[in-house]
Amino acid sequence: MQNYKAPQRDTLFVTNELLGFEKHYQKLGFEDATDDLVRAIYSEAAKFAENILAPLNAVGDDEGCTWKDGEVTTPTGFKEAYRQYVEGGWPSMSHPIEVGGQGLPYSLSTSMAEWFSGANHSWAMYPGLSQGCMETLKAHGTEQQKKVYLEKLVEGSWTGTMCLTEPHCGSDLGMLKCKAEPAEDGLYKLTGTKIFISAGEHDMSDNIVHIVLARLPDAPKGTKGISLFIVPKFNVDADGNITDRNTVKCGSIEHKMGIKGSATCVMNFDAANAILIGEPNRGLNCMFVFMNMARIGTGVEGLSATEAAFQGALSYAQDRTQFRSLTGVKNPDGPADPIIVHPDVRRMLLTQKALREGNRALAIYCMQMVDVTQYSQDPAEKQIAEAKLALLTPIVKAFLTETAQETTSYGMQVYGGHGYIKEWGMEQLARDTRICTMYEGTTGIQAIDLLARKIMGSKGELLKVFTTEIKEYCASIRDNSQFNHWSNAIESHVDEWLQMTQDIGLSAANNPEELGAASVDYLMYSGYVTVGYFWLKMAVVAQQKLDEGTSEVDFYQSKLQTAQFYFDRMLTRTRSLVSAINSGSENLMQMDADNFFHG
Ligand SMILES: Cc1cc2nc3c(=O)[nH]c(=O)nc-3n(C[C@H](O)[C@H](O)[C@H](O)COP(=O)(O)OP(=O)(O)OC[C@H]3O[C@@H](n4cnc5c(N)ncnc54)[C@H](O)[C@@H]3O)c2cc1C
Repeated sequence: MQNYKAPQRDTLFVTNELLGFEKHYQKLGFEDATDDLVRAIYSEAAKFAENILAPLNAVGDDEGCTWKDGEVTTPTGFKEAYRQYVEGGWPSMSHPIEVGGQGLPYSLSTSMAEWFSGANHSWAMYPGLSQGCMETLKAHGTEQQKKVYLEKLVEGSWTGTMCLTEPHCGSDLGMLKCKAEPAEDGLYKLTGTKIFISAGEHDMSDNIVHIVLARLPDAPKGTKGISLFIVPKFNVDADGNITDRNTVKCGSIEHKMGIKGSATCVMNFDAANAILIGEPNRGLNCMFVFMNMARIGTGVEGLSATEAAFQGALSYAQDRTQFRSLTGVKNPDGPADPIIVHPDVRRMLLTQKALREGNRALAIYCMQMVDVTQYSQDPAEKQIAEAKLALLTPIVKAFLTETAQETTSYGMQVYGGHGYIKEWGMEQLARDTRICTMYEGTTGIQAIDLLARKIMGSKGELLKVFTTEIKEYCASIRDNSQFNHWSNAIESHVDEWLQMTQDIGLSAANNPEELGAASVDYLMYSGYVTVGYFWLKMAVVAQQKLDEGTSEVDFYQSKLQTAQFYFDRMLTRTRSLVSAINSGSENLMQMDADNFFHG
C-alpha cells in the first residue's frame, strides 16, 4: 500500500504563489501568520497525517466501530490519535483567543484538514464535526453558552455533532418532527429520533455536544418552524462541570459501505435537557453558518480522496511493468516497461492530477473568501467575498466530490485487478469517498441551491460578481500571447455561462421543471469552467517562475503540461453538458411514473 504524503508543496503553491496568502493574512490582521510560521505548522501537520493517522486508515476499515448497550468503541488507535491531536493544539488553531483558541485564520486549519482526511477520512470526521459545532456556537451562542460549551470544544476535551436528519427526512428538513417542550429554568425537553449522526457516540472525548434541530410547540409548519438546541451527552452546571447523564442515547450504529471507523449513529432523545441557541424558529438560519463551512469541508474530503488516489496510482504506474511502450523500449533492463508509458494510463493519471491541483486551487480560494467574510474590516470587500462564497460553496461541495468518484475509480483502474483487492487501499478510498456526494446535501440538492436559490434568486447577480473577476483577470493577461488561447477559451465559456443562465431562467418562467432538469449538468459545467479559470491562473504563475529562472523547473513545467491537459481534455467536457442542458426537461418528464417499469 502506498504511504500517504501530505501535499505540502502543492498547497504552498496555491496559498503563496497563486493566492498571495502572506499578504492576505497581513491585511486581515494576522501578523503572526507569517510564511515561516505557516510552513512550520504545515510541517507538523504533515507528520501527524503521515505518521499517526495514515497507519490507522486500514485499521479503521477492518475493525469499524462497535456498539454495546448504547456505548460505541472506535477502532484501535483512534482514541490515542485523538489524544495526540488535542495535545498538539490542533482543535483550537483557528478559534478566537478569548475562547482558548490560537487566533489563527480559518484557511490555515482547513487547508491542512485536507491532509488529515486524505490520511484517514473516518478519523478526520470526529474533529471535523466538532468544528461545525464550534462555528455554530461562535456565531449564535450566548456568552454563557460559549463559556460552558465552546471553550471545552475548542480545547478538544469535548467533541460535537450536528443532528439534522430524521428517518423520514434528510434533504427536506421542513418535515422534521423532533420536538422541544419548554421546561424549568429556561431549559427545554427534547424528544425524538435522529439518524445517521456522525460521531453521535464514541469513546474519544469526555462529553459530546449535540447541536440538534427540533420544533417548539405551536411552531409554524415547514422550515420556518425549526429551532436549534444544544443537547449535551452529560449535563453540565453553570461553570461547565459535568453533573449527570442526559437522556440522549445511541440506539445503534449503521453498518455501511465505507468510512467504517466513523460512527454513524441513531440517536434517541427522550425528554433530554436542551438549551435553545439563537431565536426560536430561526434554527435553519443559524445552521447555515455551519452548513456552508461543512459543505466546503465535504468538498475538501473529496479533494483529499483525489489526492490519495493519485498518489497510489502514480506510484503503482511507475512500478508495475506490462508490455513495451508503443514508441520503443523504455526500460531495457526489465522484462517490460512500466505502465506509465501507455497513453491510456497517462490519461487516467493526468485526469487525477488535473483535478487534484485545480480542485485544490478552488477549495483554498473559497477558504480565503471565508477568511475575508470573517475578518475583513472593509464592508465592500466583505460583501463581494460573501457573494463569491455563496456561489462557489455548492460548486465546491458537489464538483469536488463528484469528480472524486472518477478519480478514486481511476485509482483502482490504474492498478488493474489489484485495484479491486483490499491490501492496496484503492478500493477503500473509493468506498470511503462515495458518501461525500450524499451527505451535507446531495449533489442534486447542491445543484438546486446553486441554480435556483443562489443564481435565479439573486437574478444572476451572484454569478456576475464571480464572472466579473474572471473577465477582469482574462483582460489583464491579454498581452500575454502565450496564454491567449486558454484565456479566450475561458472568456467564451464565461459568456456562454451567462447566456445559458439567462436562457434557463426564461424557460423556467414557463416551466419550473426546467431548473431541476438543468441543475446538475449546470453545476458540473460551472465547476469545469471555474477550475479552468484557476488552471489559467496557475499556468501564468508557473510561466512567470520559469521566466524568472526558478530552480524548480520540473515542478512548474509539470503545471504547464497539466494545464494543457485540462484545457484540451477536461474543459471540453462542457460540450456534452451544454447539449444535455439545452435538451430541456421534456426528455426527463414526459414518461409517466408507472411507465418506468415497462420495457
Ligand atoms: C455516513 C453518513 C453520515 C451522515 N452524517 C450526518 C450527520 O452527522 N448529521 C446529519 O444530520 N445527517 C447526516 N447524514 C445524513 C445525510 O446528510 C442525508 O442522508 C442526506 O442529506 C440525504 O438525505 P436522505 O438520505 O434523507 O435522502 P433524500 O432526501 O430522501 O434524497 C433521496 C434522493 O432524492 C434526491 N432528491 C430529494 N429531493 C430532491 C429535489 N427536490 N430535487 C432533486 N433531487 C432530490 C436526492 O438528491 C437523493 O438523490 C449522514 C448520512 C450518512 C449516510
